[in-house]
Amino acid sequence: MPASECTMANILTINSGSSSIKLSVYGAGERLLIKGLLERIGLPEGAFSAWDSEGALIRNGRLSFPDHAAALSELTGWLRNSPVGNGICAVGHRVVHGGRITAPQKIDAAMMDSLRALKPFAAEHLPHEIKAIEALESSLPGVAQVACFDTSFHTNMPEVARTFAIPEEFRRAGVVRYGFHGLSYEYIMEELGKTDPERAKGRVVIAHLGNGSSMCAVLNGMSIETTMGFTPLGGLVMSTRTGDLDPGIIVYMLKTKKYGADELNEVLNRASGLKAISGISSDMADLLREENRSAKAALAINVYCYQARKFLGALAGALGGIDTLVFTAGIGENSPQVRERILEGMGFMGLEVDSEKNLLGGPVISKGPVAIRVMKTNEELMIARHTARLL
Ligand code: ADP
Repeated sequence: MPASECTMANILTINSGSSSIKLSVYGAGERLLIKGLLERIGLPEGAFSAWDSEGALIRNGRLSFPDHAAALSELTGWLRNSPVGNGICAVGHRVVHGGRITAPQKIDAAMMDSLRALKPFAAEHLPHEIKAIEALESSLPGVAQVACFDTSFHTNMPEVARTFAIPEEFRRAGVVRYGFHGLSYEYIMEELGKTDPERAKGRVVIAHLGNGSSMCAVLNGMSIETTMGFTPLGGLVMSTRTGDLDPGIIVYMLKTKKYGADELNEVLNRASGLKAISGISSDMADLLREENRSAKAALAINVYCYQARKFLGALAGALGGIDTLVFTAGIGENSPQVRERILEGMGFMGLEVDSEKNLLGGPVISKGPVAIRVMKTNEELMIARHTARLL
């Protein structure tokens, strides 16, 4: 199908992680036609599962993929024979880092060069995303591809929020706060604009609490501050990532352990966070189940909630007050205990939670002047919307 005929007619979205690929196909009227997950890429015992628009499993198979190219070739081959078959008119990709690129863009050779040049800025994610784009170019030739960046929503953050207190040489080289989870924040703001347009123009803090967790301060629809920084490693405590650290700890680790860059990266990104404190699991639901039996699990949850409360106060300070708080993503949407514990003692700021409404999961869970909402995020749909709008 030529791109000119592409509205929301069968847009494929790809969210490519280090060992997994999430896919969705959206049809007319933002209807989710297919959702899929390819897991354990490059590892033994991989799997490819897919569900139809009713949530029924339409594919469930163990299948090992040596690399992303093999996984994507399997994915596109399967899609071709699926009911949405030849109707894919465009592909939208989640791309973690756009550098100076400020909005979603159609992918061409110049864009690919820009992305390759950005690899050192996002070595955890960008190489896999570039591979996904290249693989889809060859398996769906002629189909337009669009890159949607997690950084775009934060592009207009003021200089004072973007600037780290490090020598100018590094800032000139691009070591500034970029912020991430932008597709989730954009989606939440579009939906909040529909349900509560007045408050959406005010002072909003969004808490995206998932395996990766961050918060964003939004004023008049624009991001003015966010907890993640130059990479998605900063800010809140996460499932396996440290969040903000005293930088002196890194110097200490380098000196005492003689780590190389890759080992240090491994410790900070994959051996820290909830997993490190609890010694049990990186998964919040697991920890909540264990906390009565395990003091370490309880400590991990307490540190997570305490740090989130501290950052919530900081972002409200950046905004000069707060009108709306939104909880979203896996933990934010599903855990009344974590929401309530983050909000403990925040009544002085007008943040008062109604325990009954909180247990029921919203949509509004507040009883004070600040509206506290629970909203489901949908990064895939945001990618599909951008892709349709651009083409
Ligand atoms: P990702 O960043 O990988 O997209 P998600 O947004 O899916 O992550 O969030 C995953 C997290 O949400 C996990 O820690 C999981 O335990 C947590 N979670 C999901 N459901 C619940 C629940 N009912 N109670 C507590 N935590 C939950």
